[in-house]
Amino acid sequence: MNFPGSSPMFDLSAALTAYLLFLTAVLGLVFGSFGNAWAWRIVNGESVAKGRSHCATCGHPLSAADLVPLASFLFLRGRCRYCGEKISPRYPLAETLCALVFVSLALRFGFTPETLRLCILGFLLFVLSLVDLDSCVIPNRFPLLAAANFAAFALFGAQPGKTLLHGLIGGLSLFVPMLALVMLADRVLGRESMGGGDLKLLFVLGLYTGAARGLMLLILACCIGLVFALLPGVRGKDAENPRAFPFGPSLALAAWPVLLFGDAFLTWYLGLF
Ligand SMILES: [Zn+2]
Repeated sequence: MNFPGSSPMFDLSAALTAYLLFLTAVLGLVFGSFGNAWAWRIVNGESVAKGRSHCATCGHPLSAADLVPLASFLFLRGRCRYCGEKISPRYPLAETLCALVFVSLALRFGFTPETLRLCILGFLLFVLSLVDLDSCVIPNRFPLLAAANFAAFALFGAQPGKTLLHGLIGGLSLFVPMLALVMLADRVLGRESMGGGDLKLLFVLGLYTGAARGLMLLILACCIGLVFALLPGVRGKDAENPRAFPFGPSLALAAWPVLLFGDAFLTWYLGLF
C-alpha cells in the first residue's frame, strides 16, 4: 500500500524479508558460538551448564565483550585479550557456517515451521560434527535429540510425507543395509569399519530424508569423506584407535544440500526417463 507522499520505490515486503534474513543470520552466529562452546565442553569433559566461558589457554573468564560472535574475534584480531594466545580461526569459521545454514534454510523454505525444524537439526549436526572432529565420538544425545525433534514435528505439525511412519521407513531403509554392509566389512577387515555413532546418525538422517534422498546423502557423504580423509591431521585424534576417522562431519555436510535441494534434484532426475 502506498500512502500519499510515500516513495513508491519502497517495498515493505522486500525490506521485511531482508530484515528477517538478517535476524536469521545473527541467530545463526549466536547458535554457532554456543555450539562451539558446547562442543568444546563435551570434548574437554566440562559441564555446559556450570561455569563461565574461559580462555582455553590461560583460563581467564571471558567477559560479554569477548563473546560477541565473529565481531569479538575480528576486533581482538584472533588473539585472547588476556594472554595474547592465538584463537583458532575454526571458531569464527564455524559460527559463519552455522549462520549460512540457517539463512540458506530460511531462503529455501521461508519463515515456516519447516525451517525451524531443519534449523534445529542443522544445529545438532553442527555441534556433533565439532565433537566428532576432535574426539572421533558422536555422543548418543545428538542422534537422540535429532530423533526427538523429528518426532515432535511429526506429531504436532504433521506435513504430508513427514509422518512418523514415513520417517521410520526412511531411517530403516538406510540403517539396515548399512548395518549388514558394516558387519560384513568388519569381518573381512578384522576391525571396526564404521562406528556405532555413525550408524545411529545415519538412521536419524534417514528419518528426515526418506529412502531415495537418503541414498543420495550416503553417496555424497562418501565422496566428501574421501576428500576429507586425504586432508592432513584428520586421522589419529583417538589414541586408542588411531585409524578411527570421523565420518559424522561428512554425513552432516552431505545432509545440507540434500535437505535443501534433494526433492528438486529427484524430480529433475526422474524426469529424464
Ligand atoms: Zn587467554
